[in-house]
Amino acid sequence: MVVSVLVEIKFKQIEKTFDYLVPVILQDQIKLGKRVLVPFGNQKLEGFIIDIKNDSNYNLKEIIKIIDKESILNEELLKLGKEISKENLCNLISIYQAMLPKAYKASIKTNIKEKYISYITLTNIQEAELFLINSRAEKQKEVINDLLQENELLKKNYNSNIVKILIDKGLVKEIKKEVYRLNNYEEEKKLNKLNEYQLTAFNQIKNSDKDVILLNGITGSGKTEIYMHLIDDVIKNNKEAIMLVPEISLTPQIIDRFKSHFSSNIAILHSGLSDGERYDEYRKILRKEVSIVVGARSAIFAPFTNIGIIIIDEEHSSTYKQDHNPRYNAIDVAMLRGKYHNAKVLLASATPSIESYARAEKGYYELVKLNKRANDAKLPLVKVIDMKDEIKSGNSIFSKELLTSIEDRLNKKEQVMLLLNKRGYSNYLMCNNCGEVLKCPNCDITLTYHKTSDINRCHYCGYADKKQEKCPKCKVGTLRSFGVGTEKIEEKIQKIFKDAKILRMDIDTTSKKGSHEKIINDFINHKADILIGTQMISKGLDFPSVTLVGIINADTILNLPDFRALEKTYQLISQTSGRAGRSKKEGKVIIQTFNPDNYSIRYAKNHDYVGFYKEELKIRKNLKYPPYFFLTLVKISGKNFDITSQESKKIGNYIRKNKSIDMIVLGPSVSFISKINNIYYFQIIIKYRDKDKCKSLLNDLISITQDNKKINIDVDVNPISL
Ligand code: ADP
Ligand code: ZN
Repeated sequence: MVVSVLVEIKFKQIEKTFDYLVPVILQDQIKLGKRVLVPFGNQKLEGFIIDIKNDSNYNLKEIIKIIDKESILNEELLKLGKEISKENLCNLISIYQAMLPKAYKASIKTNIKEKYISYITLTNIQEAELFLINSRAEKQKEVINDLLQENELLKKNYNSNIVKILIDKGLVKEIKKEVYRLNNYEEEKKLNKLNEYQLTAFNQIKNSDKDVILLNGITGSGKTEIYMHLIDDVIKNNKEAIMLVPEISLTPQIIDRFKSHFSSNIAILHSGLSDGERYDEYRKILRKEVSIVVGARSAIFAPFTNIGIIIIDEEHSSTYKQDHNPRYNAIDVAMLRGKYHNAKVLLASATPSIESYARAEKGYYELVKLNKRANDAKLPLVKVIDMKDEIKSGNSIFSKELLTSIEDRLNKKEQVMLLLNKRGYSNYLMCNNCGEVLKCPNCDITLTYHKTSDINRCHYCGYADKKQEKCPKCKVGTLRSFGVGTEKIEEKIQKIFKDAKILRMDIDTTSKKGSHEKIINDFINHKADILIGTQMISKGLDFPSVTLVGIINADTILNLPDFRALEKTYQLISQTSGRAGRSKKEGKVIIQTFNPDNYSIRYAKNHDYVGFYKEELKIRKNLKYPPYFFLTLVKISGKNFDITSQESKKIGNYIRKNKSIDMIVLGPSVSFISKINNIYYFQIIIKYRDKDKCKSLLNDLISITQDNKKINIDVDVNPISL
């Protein structure tokens, strides 16, 4: 017997396997998807069995051992990995690794083990009873007495010396039981009854004959409630459910809502877990102890075998696409798994991606609408403030209306959220003499001043430098900070509203485990009046006492050189305003911008998603962007600027020479951020209609450039940003 093994080394070829002979004694344990240890050169490597052949080639080396008792990748996942790697032109081994928790990766030497708890129990009841009569060792008798009442007891609750004596006497034995690090034994709470609008949507989803459904429900319309009813329905039919949410909205709030109904039938997977916790949650799924998983992107690979529904909340979120290799998109994976299991895929959002909405309009997906907020809450009133006018009256950061509205809410003891998509204190530091702007020495990006730590930081490579007063270039001038970040907003607001209690939520305040949850809980419990944050505060949170949301600068995303800039601006405004007025009291949103006439802002003001969609679609058509054309981004990077530039040109020429007529090739051009960590980046954009033709062209390109050591090529199919 011979097996093909995919070893844990990345080759440039997408799928490179090696054949090994299986010793006769191991043959009946061989199964697809198990890992084996094999000799490789003069090393030993782990790899997955991905093919079994019944020939015997005695020139081959033998496998050393089989690692797993059971397959850790079942046949569906093995096949799925191949499909994803072909679609995204990425390495098969890296996809299999992305499917599994770290504990299964040989290349990462972790020490993640099962956790056990020791119990003690009696070896023989009659002997124990005799002991009680005959012995005078009171302390020992107490333990025996307890054990006669209760079959098993936690060992750690008893004096270890006494337990040892009893074990040595043969009266008591120790048993170890595996425990999961995270557990949930809450009482099951009943679900809320759906209101009439929710019920209509629920039935439309359930009865649809399409494989994919797009639920376009406004913020606060009770989509989460519908998900729970759908999942309830699925598990009653003994099937399983996967629900994906963006990482940052995987807050204690949503987890609690699910746990309080589904109790211990649910596994949770997100990046806040320790490796051990993640390993445990994963094994709950493998062992079929749960039938629901709620998690971020990678939870789409949950090893369920009988899926009934896959739900993707906030489907427009860019976090569903992994932004490094393997660059898979969890929504595409959901479609593949849905097809395999004959399960419905539900995409849901208040602001669906233009591509998804277009597919729904064309009838590829079922379109279900939910236009009423649950609990009679109204959508907030949105006010757009033209900051050009404010600057004329001397207000550079906060408009007059924003400040008076904050004051009003503070007086009424209501809560306020302020959003600015820029962390740190200022945007950049500039010399007041020569105009030099302080940049990262490794990246083509300005440094951001962080006042709390008194450090200038690069947000791309993490470079950090002590604050300097003097300009490093002219040595005469002083460095002044320009622009605002969340730290400065916090400082300014505190100065204006001296008695207000303020919380700040951004990457800098949430790096410690549990800090994210703490801020959210403190704000829910009204321990603060104002929450200031980056886009982290825009998603999924449900704070009933928030009646005012301020967007300090709606233009941060608008001005990015990306064809999705307007879509993202619309989403950000609409999602953030969705945090206001979620209960009885009406909410208000204030948007500060220098572009009040931009249509993404105009439509967001009126909560008119479809209006925005129609306008945006026209532009996409004219400029040949998705959904009319597919896009692939080819990134070329290298240590030397000139060489990378030359090689990029050669690659551009190759693509142009071999392209089919329907393809449009743009570039090479220097990437938006041209240098990160001393590596230079160039990019070529390909627009096309025929997927297969483009894939075969890129496959050829990858194999031709395989041995080019001067540069690195990274192909991003359907990129989420340019
Ligand atoms: P969405 O996910 O669409 O933003 P949620 O599901 O979070 O909306 O619902 C908004 C609020 O309304 C939540 O506080 C939720 O508990 C409440 N809610 C939703 N549906 C119902 C219902 N049928 N009965 C009672 N409360 C509901
Ligand atoms: Zn840097």
